[in-house]
Amino acid sequence: MPGLMQPWPLTLDRFLEHAGRWHGSTEVVSRSNEGPVTRCGYADIHRRARQLSRALLEHGIALEDRVATLAFNSARHLEAWYGIMGIGAVCHTLNPRLPVGQLAYIVNHAADRVLLADVLCAPIVRELSSHCPGIERVVLFADEAQLPAGVAATAYESWIAGRSTDCPWGGFSEETAAGLCYTSGTTGDQKGVLYSHRSNFLHGLCSLMPDVLGFSRRDVVLAIVPMFHANAWGLAFAAPAVGAKFVLPGAKLDGASLFELMETEGVTFSAGVPTVWQGLLQFLEREQLRPTTLKRIVSGGAAAPEALIRAYQEKYGIEVRHGWGMTEMSPIGTVNAPPDLATPTTEQGRAIFGVDLRLTDDEGAEVPQDGRTPGHLNVRGAAVACAYFRREADGILDAGGWFDTGDIATIDGSGMLRITDRAKDVIKSGGEWISSIDIENAAAAHPKAALAAVVGMPHPKWGERPLLIVQLKVGQSSTAQEFLDFLEGRIARWWMPEAVQFVASIPLGATGKIDKKQLRAALTRPA
Ligand code: ADP
Repeated sequence: MPGLMQPWPLTLDRFLEHAGRWHGSTEVVSRSNEGPVTRCGYADIHRRARQLSRALLEHGIALEDRVATLAFNSARHLEAWYGIMGIGAVCHTLNPRLPVGQLAYIVNHAADRVLLADVLCAPIVRELSSHCPGIERVVLFADEAQLPAGVAATAYESWIAGRSTDCPWGGFSEETAAGLCYTSGTTGDQKGVLYSHRSNFLHGLCSLMPDVLGFSRRDVVLAIVPMFHANAWGLAFAAPAVGAKFVLPGAKLDGASLFELMETEGVTFSAGVPTVWQGLLQFLEREQLRPTTLKRIVSGGAAAPEALIRAYQEKYGIEVRHGWGMTEMSPIGTVNAPPDLATPTTEQGRAIFGVDLRLTDDEGAEVPQDGRTPGHLNVRGAAVACAYFRREADGILDAGGWFDTGDIATIDGSGMLRITDRAKDVIKSGGEWISSIDIENAAAAHPKAALAAVVGMPHPKWGERPLLIVQLKVGQSSTAQEFLDFLEGRIARWWMPEAVQFVASIPLGATGKIDKKQLRAALTRPA
């Protein structure tokens, strides 16, 4: 027997409809890639997003058609998300840091019809256009005067100007596809995660719970995590849902630029990957500055070293929540809200509502949740992928509906998850697993270390042994012995790195995380 409640499909247009109507004058602040900061209200974003919808409809974009964006975080990118999704088209976010060959592959695979891009990305667009004949129109986030020469593109401002805001939003099934994001990989191996309105809607709401992101209308939210990767962790849905002032930083994510934006806009909450937080921390230490309004940050996407968490909590009184997730999970899986600022939260936390976890051995049998036994981390949930786009026939779930994350973890009796490695990064020494993450965390605590990474190196006796790679802070010098002495007592004896190598810079991947694939390739390449 159906309940007697109003039908109200969970479609994403509702987030901006709500913000535009009830928080219309709350500010959305953007720093453009060209420099100046612009500000408007949610009502303006709502109006302009609807004008964009009209432009798309008049171009011929229909339900389920793919429209790509190639842009950093900005108000116009936010308008694009809602303008595209509002009419039931699919917003395919492209990562400008990916090599053009990979971008071309995914644009063609997704059959994107229209591309909306930042002017800063015009050189990429120029190259892409020749490889992607399916793109019917390129629109650059610019006015006529800002259009660069040599790119056949429409100026966004002229495209939407004067258009009616009268267009149908929503009115389709909540199961309709809303967004598409390809996970990183080598060419040909990228896999498209196709979010639905329902999955993003539920993820957006669950992410707002007090022990997850937990921000409110009284917060000023800085979205450092990019809108081109994994839904910006749901921030572009959660901020309008509560009517929080929303700050979008564009492409400049260095410590100085972020600090300036935080201080001038009164940012209280932000989210990003650990390398961004390292960059800000080094800036604060170097310049002897303190954030005056920032209260809480979420660090996720890669393990946050204890030293980083301690520095923010103990020195600056800023709460650090350590989160784990992945593109296939929309992306948040677990979050660790620390009990107090004296306690570092190195574990990745507990499952958020809507996510179920379990650990299995190599044969698929469940392993105990005793905080000691590592296993393959499997997930299920309302916002977890069940197949990849246009690869639907390749099953990615087991018979029980579980998805294998490719991560190795332990879970303790209280449900606390600790990621020990990615399955492909695991170091197997004498038949036992060594956690590269734990060694990295310990090494990153050395005051001279800017970044630390650990990879396995072949060893005649043990199979593999850990190799520690360190990028020192600017102006520092050190020796392998100094680092080995530092690790003494901080990690198990048999985990001690076989060697320590210093490099000028540790390579970061397209999402700002340490890229171990590149690192390994560089190390094995003959000098
Ligand atoms: P990719 O990094 O391949 O582009 P994702 O952004 O989806 O893809 O990354 C998801 C992966 O990042 C997880 O499977 C996990 O290995 C790693 N990860 C995410 N958050 C954390 C964390 N807090 N600690 C350790 N690893 C993490």
